[in-house]
Amino acid sequence: MFHLDVQQITKRYHPAPTPAVSDASFHLDSGEIFGLVGPSGCGKTTTLRIIAGFEHPDSGDILLDGVSIRDLPPERRKIGFVFQDYALFPNRSVIGNVVFGLRGVDRRNRRRRAEELLELVGLEGEAERMPHELSGGQQQRVALARTLASNPELILLDEPFSNLDAALRETTRRDIRTLLKCADVSAILVTHDQEEALSFCDSVGVMHAGALEQVGRPEEIYLRPETSFVAQFLGRANLLRGTARGSVADTELGTIPIFPDSEGPVLLSLRPEHLGLSPLDSPEGGPGGEVISREFRGHDVTFRVRYGRIDYLAHTEYTGALTVGSRVSIYPREPAVVLRETGLCRRALPSTAHSARWAQLLQARAT
Ligand code: ATP
Repeated sequence: MFHLDVQQITKRYHPAPTPAVSDASFHLDSGEIFGLVGPSGCGKTTTLRIIAGFEHPDSGDILLDGVSIRDLPPERRKIGFVFQDYALFPNRSVIGNVVFGLRGVDRRNRRRRAEELLELVGLEGEAERMPHELSGGQQQRVALARTLASNPELILLDEPFSNLDAALRETTRRDIRTLLKCADVSAILVTHDQEEALSFCDSVGVMHAGALEQVGRPEEIYLRPETSFVAQFLGRANLLRGTARGSVADTELGTIPIFPDSEGPVLLSLRPEHLGLSPLDSPEGGPGGEVISREFRGHDVTFRVRYGRIDYLAHTEYTGALTVGSRVSIYPREPAVVLRETGLCRRALPSTAHSARWAQLLQARAT
C-alpha cells in the first residue's frame, strides 16, 4: 500500500542566510491529498521539487513505501507533475497530448487507453480539438489525464488552479478532487490560497519561512491552530492575552473557557464566528464595547467592536438590531485556543519577565 514519508528535509540555496526549507516532515497515505499552504517564498515549491527529484535536499530523506528515493532521478520515482500553466503541447490535439503520456504502453493500446483517460476526466467529446480551443479548466483536465497516463503513485500539483478565474477555479477544483479520488491516486497540492487547501485536501501543512508550523486535518488546523501565524494565515482571528487557570483564562473579555487546559500567561485565538454579541441594556451600563463598523455579507454580518484598547471581529448571523455605534457585550461561543509562542506557552511563566514580549505581541497584532 502506497505511503510517502518526508523526513526532516532541509534545503538551502547559497548564499541565502536561511534555508528555503527547514526540517520539514510529513506523511501521506494511499489515496490521500496533502496540501502545502503558505505565503509566497515560504518554501512550498522547493519542497515539491525535492519530492519530484528536481532538487536534492541538503539533509533529510524521502521514503516511498518505506524505501528511500532521495538519490533516484525524477524519471524513476513514479511521480507525476501538474503545473500551473498546464504545459500542454500546443501543436498536438487533446488525445495527442494524452497519448504522449503513454509512451511506455504498447503502441496498439495507446489510443484506447487515452480515450479511457479522457472519459475519466470528462473530455471524451474533445479528443480531436487543439488545446487553445479549450477553457483553462478543460486544459487542466487534459494535463491531469496526461499525468495519470504514466500511472504515477503520486501526483504533485503546483498551483494548478491559479490561472483560472474564480468561478472556473471552484468547479475545476471540485472536478479534479473527484477525479483523483476516483483514480485513487495520492497527491500533494501546493497553494498560497488557504481556502483552496482547506477544501481540496485531506490534510494540510502550513509553511512559514521554510518550516512546517502545523500539519493536520483541515478542521483541526482551522479550529485548533497552534501558533498565531497559523491562526491568522488560515482566516481571521482575534488574538488576546490572558492568565490561564486550568480550563479557563482571565482576559479582557472576562473569564472565558480555553483549550487545552493551561496555567499562567497565555496568548489566545478566537475566530470571529466563535464570538457572540449582545446589546447592552443601558448605554452606560457594564463593561462593553462599541460597534465601529459593520460589513453586511448577505446571510451574515461581520462586526468590528472596539473593546478597551482592542478591536475584535465578530461574525454573526444577520441581525438588524446592531448598528454602528451600538454598545455591546462580547462573549465566546467556543473555547479560545491557547497558542504556542516562543517563551510563552501552555505552562505557568513569571509574569514580569514577559511583559515586554506581551507588549511586542500586542503591538504586532494591532498593526
Ligand atoms: P511562491 O508561492 O511565490 O512560489 P514558494 O513558497 O513556493 O513561493 P519557493 O519557490 O520554494 O517558495 O522559494 C523559497 C525560497 O527559496 C525563496 O526565498 C526563493 O527566493 C528561494 N529560491 C527558490 N528557488 C531558488 C533557486 N533556484 N535559487 C536560489 N533561491 C531560490
